[in-house]
Amino acid sequence: MNPKRVVVIGGGPGGYVAAIRAAQLGARVTLIEKDRIGGTCLNRGCIPTKALLSDAKLLRSLKRSPVFESLLSEGFNPIHPMMERKKKVVQEMVRGVELLLQSYRITVKSGQADLLGTDQIVFQDREGRQETIVADGIILAPGSQTKVLPGLTPDGERIITSDEILEIGKIPREILIVGGGYIGVEFATLFSTLGSKVTIVEILDTILPGLEGELVRNLRRIFEKEGVKIHTQSSIEKIHDQGEELRVDLKTPQGIEKVVVDKLLLSVGRGPNLALDFSKAGVRVSASGIQVNRRMETTAPYIYAIGDAIGGLLLAHVASEEGIIAAENLMGMDRQIEDRQIPTCIFTYPEIASIGLPEKEARTRGEIRVGRFPFRSNPKALISEETEGLIKVVAARETDEILGVHIIGPEASTL
Ligand code: FAD
Repeated sequence: MNPKRVVVIGGGPGGYVAAIRAAQLGARVTLIEKDRIGGTCLNRGCIPTKALLSDAKLLRSLKRSPVFESLLSEGFNPIHPMMERKKKVVQEMVRGVELLLQSYRITVKSGQADLLGTDQIVFQDREGRQETIVADGIILAPGSQTKVLPGLTPDGERIITSDEILEIGKIPREILIVGGGYIGVEFATLFSTLGSKVTIVEILDTILPGLEGELVRNLRRIFEKEGVKIHTQSSIEKIHDQGEELRVDLKTPQGIEKVVVDKLLLSVGRGPNLALDFSKAGVRVSASGIQVNRRMETTAPYIYAIGDAIGGLLLAHVASEEGIIAAENLMGMDRQIEDRQIPTCIFTYPEIASIGLPEKEARTRGEIRVGRFPFRSNPKALISEETEGLIKVVAARETDEILGVHIIGPEASTL
């Protein structure tokens, strides 16, 4: 029997994992990527941010250490070696994935793909040469892009997105972070550690909406203790251009607050990349993404969609799991997404990790019990002088079934 021909569009953690799973199940797979293998996550997202945050954590430990603090000289500026190391980590990860794809005999094509029909794709390479590829199944994984706000266009210099901030050569003196989601708060940790004065402005009544409230309150307290200013229920009223700096008026519940910053980071969320000709194949899309069911099937036969492009939780491990489900269904298995048990890790200081229901939401569903343990009482935390934070477990009163676990503290993501 001829192997199934599967084409995957997009080589991020959704697409490359789907490609590998389809190959493991016997498909002949072509993966098309217009930029770099690894997608947002490896090149402009999870990996570079975590490389920088890992160095920031080390710097923080040194600054806090009564033994090693004196090693840090006055005016120490690690931004260049940090950026260099981040670049190497990214290159190594990308190369690793490329080798993995090779080892599964996946054909990787470098260029742009689009839909021609339910079983046909048009591929255009970097020199403009076109080719039609016929497929028995297609997996769409085109990812997402940074959202921008009306009237706040990134200029790549002073008003920037997460893409540009990962390439800066100078630590900002003062930075305004617009958007208190996980990307915004991670950059707040990074630049606060590096000595920038950080302000976060968030239009909602809380940073990190949707997360267990007790973790958010703890993070806010710790942030404010180290000088990070947080304005919730607030927005940008006006920006006055001042040469290399921006003078920004913030509309807050207390009135107008003025900040003068050299960088304004736009981190107001990400939206699906919907730049494909979906109508040619009958794939239905909406503003929140490509429409799929729990099996990752789109409205067109044998076309699946996964990852950031379908909306929901925009996380790398979610994209990968959806990729596995799409590939397995395409290869004749019967899988559905289980979205109740998706963990979230946020690499702030201290780190946050959370899975399941927050306490407030769990209470609306029935009788519960809540257990808390502060890191202050944990010997390992005391030894490493990282005693901020707690672990909270939410369980059903009758059955003891664990409904949610929420951690803020040292090594939360590892836990
Ligand atoms: P992407 O990774 O965006 O990949 C899509 C790929 O498709 C891209 O490479 C693109 O070039 C390609 N493509 C698009 N259209 C076409 C086309 N027509 N033809 C060919 N190729 C095409 N998630 C976490 O889980 N943990 C984290 O710590 C984390 N940190 C993040 C930090 C930042 C700053 C950002 C921006 C994101 C972070 N994320 C994190 C989110 C994570 O990066 C995304 O959820 C993940 O990359 C989504 O994977 P994907 O495969 O759906 O899309």
